[in-house]
Order: sequence, then C-alpha cells, then structure tokens
Amino acid sequence: MNKLDTALVTSSLKEAGFSLAESEKEADVVLINTCSVRQHAEQRVLSHLGHLKHIKKSKPNMVVGVIGCMAQRLGAELLGDETIDIVCGPAQIPQITELVTKALQEKKKALAVTEKIRQKAPGEQSKALEEFESFFDSYDKQIPGQAFVRAMRGCNNFCTYCVVPYVRGPEVSRPPAAIIEQIKRLAGEGVKLVTLLGQMVNAYKYNSNGKSYCLADLLNMVSEIEGIEWIRFVTSYPAEEFYNQILKAMADLPKVCNYLHMPAQSGSDKILKAMNRNYTASQYLELLDKARAIVPDIAIAGDFMVGFPGETEEDFQGTVRLVEKARYKNCFVFKYSPRPGTMADKRLQDDIPQEIKRRRNIELLSVQEKISDELSKQFLGKTVKVLVEGLSKKPHLNSFEKKGYPQLVGRTAENWIVVFNGPMDLAGEFAKVKITRTSPLTLFGEMI
Ligand code: SAM
Ligand code: SF4
Repeated sequence: MNKLDTALVTSSLKEAGFSLAESEKEADVVLINTCSVRQHAEQRVLSHLGHLKHIKKSKPNMVVGVIGCMAQRLGAELLGDETIDIVCGPAQIPQITELVTKALQEKKKALAVTEKIRQKAPGEQSKALEEFESFFDSYDKQIPGQAFVRAMRGCNNFCTYCVVPYVRGPEVSRPPAAIIEQIKRLAGEGVKLVTLLGQMVNAYKYNSNGKSYCLADLLNMVSEIEGIEWIRFVTSYPAEEFYNQILKAMADLPKVCNYLHMPAQSGSDKILKAMNRNYTASQYLELLDKARAIVPDIAIAGDFMVGFPGETEEDFQGTVRLVEKARYKNCFVFKYSPRPGTMADKRLQDDIPQEIKRRRNIELLSVQEKISDELSKQFLGKTVKVLVEGLSKKPHLNSFEKKGYPQLVGRTAENWIVVFNGPMDLAGEFAKVKITRTSPLTLFGEMI
C-alpha cells in the first residue's frame, strides 16, 4: 500500500515538472512516506529527520514533508518540529503537489490530515475514495511490467494491536468498473501482473445496480483483460465465509496466481482471542487444508507476531506447532510493538521482555527456514516461468556467472524469488529458468 502511495506521489510531482534528485543533499524537496504499524518504523523516520535537520542547516530553503500513516497519527505534533514543513496524511496525497508548490513559494508550514477518522458501516461506498483514485491517471511502475491496484482502502477489523483502522480509516471498496478501467489502462502500458490490494482484500464487496460484487467476481473480470497475464491479491484474512468462491476462482482462472498471503498471527487460541482475530488455530489450519484441496499447488505465506501481552512459552509453542503444520512458503515474523490508541495498548501491559521477544522471533524464523528449505528443494531440476523484475540486488549470491549477462531477479506465479543470468531487456518480460540450486527463500538457475 505504501509502495503504491509512493509511486502515486512521485508521478504527480513529475507531472507537475519536478524530477527525482540523486540524493537528499541535492534535493529542493524531501518527502518521507511513513508507516505506523510498529514503533521501530516510526523511530527510523524520527532519526532520519534528525539527519535532515543537519542538511537543512546549510540548505534552509529545502522543504521537508512527512506523508502517510505517521503524518495522520501525529499530525500537528510533527509540524511542531522545526525541520518539517508539510504533514500530509494518506487520504490527502492528491494534494501533495499543491502543498509542495506552496511550501516552496510561500515558506509556510502546511498540515493536511483527516480531522476525525469516522468509522463507516462495512461495505459502505465512498465517493471521496474514487475521487482519490481517479486523481491519478497513470503512475510510475517501480517494477517493470507490474502494478499495484487498490481494491480497497482502510480496515474495520480492529485487531487489538493494530493501528491501521485509526490511520487509514474505515474499510471502503472501489467500484469494479473503475478498477477494471484502470487495469485496462495499465495493460495498455505493458503491465502483465497486477496485484489487487486491501487490508482484508477477500472482504471486497461493492453493490451496484442491484448486484453485489465480491473478490471472486473481480478476479473473473480482471482475467478477461487482454495483456494481463498474472493476477495476485493481498492480504487475505482467515475467514471461512469468503473462501469458497475465491479459491474456486484461483483454481478455475489460469491468470490468478496460486499464491495466498494469509496471516495467522498466533497459534494460541487464547492469544488469538486477545488479538480479536475471529478464528482458532485449528480453524485456520482447516482453511489451509481446504485451500490445498481446491488448489493443490498453492503457495501460502503467513505473518506472525511474537511477544503479544500475556504470551506464555506454551502459547508460543502453539505458534511453533502451527507453523510446522502450515508448511508456508515463507512467513514474516514481527515482535509485538504497542501502538498508541489501540485496544491492546490501552488495556494490556507490554509484559514480554525484549530478549524473550527476540528469542521467539529467531526461533520461529528458524522453524520456517527449515520448511522453506525443504519446499524450495522440490524445484531442483525443474523449469519455472518467471516474470523478470530487473537486476538482482545481491549478485554475489549466484555462483553461476554467465559471461556478458548481468544477474537478474524474477518471481514465479507462486511468488518464489528466482535469480539467474540474462539480458537486462528481459525486465518486465517472462522467462523460463531451469533451477540448479536452492536456498530457503531463493531459487537459482539458468535461463532456457
Ligand atoms: N491486514 C493484514 C492482516 O490482517 O493480516 C495485515 C496488515 S499489518 C499492516 C501487517 C502485519 O504487521 C500484520 O500481519 C502483523 O503481523 C504486523 N503488525 C501489525 N500490528 C503490529 C504491532 N502492533 N506490532 C507488531 N507487529 C504488528
Ligand atoms: Fe490491522 Fe487486523 Fe485490519 Fe489487518 S485486519 S489491517 S491486522 S486491524
């Protein structure tokens, strides 16, 4: 979601005549897009602002803006910082060019955030959201051939630890016609893979002319767009009622990638209840079984949190068991971070010491690493189709150097990362790669 917002901001500034600077030292304007999900992310922004303060001493006319969730969360408090000129929430991003231009001309501070985040009824439709999306005709694709498309904004779920509903606002789905029109335009610009975004994207729902559209309907409609070859959607919430149609669409529609990102957060029913996640560990595992029965080669990724208030060693071992049973392709593990304003922060004490959180984090990742290693080895000797992203960021990892060709990185439909040597102009195109070596998270091979 943040990557999409950054791309939208970059494009609207470029359209207004700005260009990207090589470094902050050369820039007239520095914008930081922020995340509030964990305290660590916010701390990094604050320490970076310290660095900008330093640069601003020798460049007093430089404009500094903080945009995104942290801007929404802290608002005027941030504007009090002498380094910051603009504070702009995620819903105000269409105003960014105007805010930057004004700040450069008038040297005045500007605050643009939603005054009071109002909760709407589930499925409520918003004119403001569509005005937001239609503001951007087109945008810079950071990865050639790929684009994110917002299907929904916000969240109504209020997991007790999570700041998203407070900063991104209520859950709102976009009209399918607008999404389809946008994707057709992207396909015309050479986009082959679209990723539909939503905090609970499986809850997508839009009523129009007496018909109700769900995510499966959207997947069917996107599948018909010429030029689009792969479709992904993230993130999915483990709720039974959504799944039948979505998994069926995945099984029936060749363009829908067999990839599901479905965070479990914990394997302890006590902790899941305290998190306000509306499922038990066994219901979650049943959903995975069902997914694998309908889509046999599905790759599943998960998110987990360790050190939630009251998490005993036994609770944590429940999470370890769940990870062992789930056999994820990969999972993301986070240490619980209390977020101001959330229920968990108000009602529960952050009582798990940092070193225990750290130890549990490492232990869970090592359980997953073993599974990822076993799963990745199954690709040895096989040929996979990848959508090439561009140059590999870690070229030293692949020992199969082919003279004259740089090392590229791409992903399979199931989201496995594949590294191989090939011509640079393959970025944004499909390639076939024979896998010759694997590591837990990466497949290495030779282009066919
Ligand atoms: N909407 C998605 C879902 O419900 O699965 C996830 C959205 S959240 C922005 C991404 C991940 O951050 C979550 O899956 C969770 O594991 C993690 N997260 C959220 N709040 C957190 C907190 N307070 N401390 C640590 N991790 C957190
Ligand atoms: Fe946060 Fe829960 Fe909503 Fe995901 S579903 S964004 S974790 S409140």
